[in-house]
Amino acid sequence: MKTHYIIPIFIPEKACPHRCIYCNQFNITNQTQVTDYNYVTQTIETYLQTIPKEATKRIAFFGGTFTGMSMEEQNLYLERAYPYITRGEIDEIQLSTRPDYINREILENLKHYGVRTIELGAQSLNNEVLQFSGRGHTVQEVEKSSSLIKRYNFKLGLQMMIGLPLDTKQRAIETAQKIVDLGADCTRIYPTLVIKNTFLEKLYLEGKYQPLSIADAIDQTLAVMDIFEKSHLSILRIGLHPSQSLLEGTELVAGPFHVSFKELVLSEKWRRKLQPFVDNRPHKACVIKVPAGEINAAVGYGGSNKKWLQQYYPNVRFIPTADEFEVLFS
Ligand code: SF4
Repeated sequence: MKTHYIIPIFIPEKACPHRCIYCNQFNITNQTQVTDYNYVTQTIETYLQTIPKEATKRIAFFGGTFTGMSMEEQNLYLERAYPYITRGEIDEIQLSTRPDYINREILENLKHYGVRTIELGAQSLNNEVLQFSGRGHTVQEVEKSSSLIKRYNFKLGLQMMIGLPLDTKQRAIETAQKIVDLGADCTRIYPTLVIKNTFLEKLYLEGKYQPLSIADAIDQTLAVMDIFEKSHLSILRIGLHPSQSLLEGTELVAGPFHVSFKELVLSEKWRRKLQPFVDNRPHKACVIKVPAGEINAAVGYGGSNKKWLQQYYPNVRFIPTADEFEVLFS
């Protein structure tokens, strides 16, 4: 199986017509300079030196609003990426943008430069949540852009957030279902964090916004994941990429940040899967056969699921298997 590599090019808050209440993109990407065009080539070259030749490689323009830039400026970026596609050194170009910056002319131009995937920051598909978060677009705009992107045969990504002001678990579930209904090929799930120098920080400090706890963020993530997995929609990311400033805690004010958030989510998923097998009957040993790729999640983050089971059974063993998941007692 081929390994996939992403070459990320960050475009911090470039051409963003709004400042969403939770966003301070400069802080999150740790990049205070607007990306210059030569930086694109330098970044690609640097990554190519370390990526195996036979791997699948993708250039991804992240952050900001790519298609909010003038066409000339979009092309200055794309012209630096496209030759790698024509030379066969890179397989795909993808970018993220806002739902209200998509039209036919933009899509035709992106097609011309070999872009394959367009991810829209939908964040929520509830108009009250979008409006309060200062997103500056509506659910209807997400629907319209998604359908246009699909008509032009791009792969569609719809990113969502959980824990925004006015959002609820039920609304998050409805957002996930709509993402599926809109025909998205992939998604990302981001818990809302309170970052310094954002309007959300002000709301938080005034006691008008309470972020999700880690436990609630995990619970909501599992609820939306369940919807995506049942529809075979690929989940590209769970949780914000931990930048240096987030790791050091210098930019994070509050919220469910954890460096291994995804692992916590997968760990809890397995804990819930194992829960029905916990009974009070006396057993000496419990053997859990788990598909090899999921053994770490089954054992749990920091061995949490194993430790939890050890409260009931003196001898707990996880065994990787090529077969189905199975729990055996003796
Ligand atoms: S559109 Fe994206 S990058 Fe721009 S302010 Fe909102 S969240 Fe930040």
